[in-house]
Amino acid sequence: MRERILIGVAWPYANGPLHLGHITGAYLPADIFARYHRLKGNDVLMVSGSDQHGTPVTIRAQQEGLTPLEVADKYHRQFVEGWRKLGISFDLYTTTDTPNHFEVAQDMFLTLLKNGYLYREKMLQAYCPNCQRFLPDRYVEGTCPHCACDRARGDECDECGKPVSPSELAGLRCVLCSTAPRFEYSEHFFLRLSAFQDRLADWIREQTHWRRNVLGGAWNFLNEGLRDRAITRDLDWGIPVPQPGFENKRLYVWFENVIGYLSASKEWAKSQGDDDAWRPFWQGDARSYYFLGKDNIFFHTLSWPATLMGYGGLNLPYDVPANEFLTIEGRKLSTSRNWAIWLDDYLERYDPDALRYTLAVNMPETGDSDFSWREFLRRNNNELVATYGNLANRVLTFAQRHFDGVVPQPGDLDEPGQRLLQEAASSLDRVDGRLYRCEFKAAIKESMSLAQEANRYLDEQAPWKTIKTDREASARSVYTTLSLLTTLKTALYPFLPFSSERLHSYLGFDGSVKEQGWNAQFLPPGQKLRKPEPLFVKLDEDIVAQETGRLGPLTECQE
Ligand SMILES: [Zn+2]
Ligand SMILES: [Zn+2]
Repeated sequence: MRERILIGVAWPYANGPLHLGHITGAYLPADIFARYHRLKGNDVLMVSGSDQHGTPVTIRAQQEGLTPLEVADKYHRQFVEGWRKLGISFDLYTTTDTPNHFEVAQDMFLTLLKNGYLYREKMLQAYCPNCQRFLPDRYVEGTCPHCACDRARGDECDECGKPVSPSELAGLRCVLCSTAPRFEYSEHFFLRLSAFQDRLADWIREQTHWRRNVLGGAWNFLNEGLRDRAITRDLDWGIPVPQPGFENKRLYVWFENVIGYLSASKEWAKSQGDDDAWRPFWQGDARSYYFLGKDNIFFHTLSWPATLMGYGGLNLPYDVPANEFLTIEGRKLSTSRNWAIWLDDYLERYDPDALRYTLAVNMPETGDSDFSWREFLRRNNNELVATYGNLANRVLTFAQRHFDGVVPQPGDLDEPGQRLLQEAASSLDRVDGRLYRCEFKAAIKESMSLAQEANRYLDEQAPWKTIKTDREASARSVYTTLSLLTTLKTALYPFLPFSSERLHSYLGFDGSVKEQGWNAQFLPPGQKLRKPEPLFVKLDEDIVAQETGRLGPLTECQE
């Protein structure tokens, strides 16, 4: 039975370049999952887009001397290019700055208002007498009460990562003009999250298939008791609040960007020429998966489901496989200190599949994980090149040289050959089960152990020896190994799409891996092979020193 799978991937702020933390947190696992389900023949809709609104974008614009739209467009274009080069296969990647998204978000707002889940209340807000404007939390900075860094923002301290509020910061100042702000009342709309406390708790209790860290995160908030949250901000960039008296305010990004999953699905439907094509992904037995980093667990397990409950008629998330964080060379990733590996930099110098592999095999699914260039080098050279790439290259070039570049006739397979191919089929089943449950790390390890097994088989059979004494035995082992590679490139396709497609072609198949589906395929004897190139490039030791040298420098707030 065909399944319908909606994949929502967190919306990156269009206020700076993408780094490996973004990729391993959300985009790579989402893409692996999407490719797997497409291969299985299921209907997949994977959507996301650039979050073009909010103070992260307006502040960046001010720093770069551009308008918010110019900044957002600039990074949006970079993101789109990054997805293409890394092979992140969205069905639609849009932005929050479209008329369609405005309409869907405002409709959500008005429906929640009508249903009694929104109310107005005055709250104290920093106000700059010099700029004559209210200052959203990111527009004030001061000294962090936790770590004494004197450049903590009003919502979070970048240095220690702790959430703060403006009133906790000493020496508070306006980021635009450095004047000390005063606090004045400003009226905002609040989402009545407290009204959903019991419904959310009942619903989350049923989600026994969620990751433990995600359930733990959600329960932490529930156990504290959900508080109503302001969903509008004093800002002039973003989606207007469709209520009189709120002309100088905008919808809060964390209220509106998650609505983007729905608006993007509608935009995708229109692009398919069927305005209702989004419905099967949002209603009935479709399952929705949301991929994001652990800092977004609150919004996707509580705030967004509450919004959906209040709106009515749409599916709640089926799973929220949030990842933990990635550290870089053993230290917390920090964009402001340039302790980060930027996606564009990586893609300029290295193979996309090597990154996808290194990140997947070490994915922070249950705890934080670390990326180091030494580890990257080792995984690339010892695993991709030596284990998988060489296996393919050895047997493909051998077949070119000794079997006229065609898949040899195997005759009857012997016992070791049959065993290996049975193992390939059952390994594919195990990878299937792992991927179905979003266990990406285990899935890729399972696939690579099949490659190791094939290497052992090939070394034992040694067709380069038997070719001189027993041509039939040589043909049999070459056929068996080529057959195994046919299955292996399928199992690895969700992780390593570029090299899988190349191998698919070297094995003599036409079209794409995707068209052949998720199964242990039959390799026809006599099929013409294509001339192979190495699947992966061996990297030099020197890159470790070169790349770690690009990290930093540290700023004055370092420990
Ligand atoms: Zn701090
Ligand atoms: Zn000011």
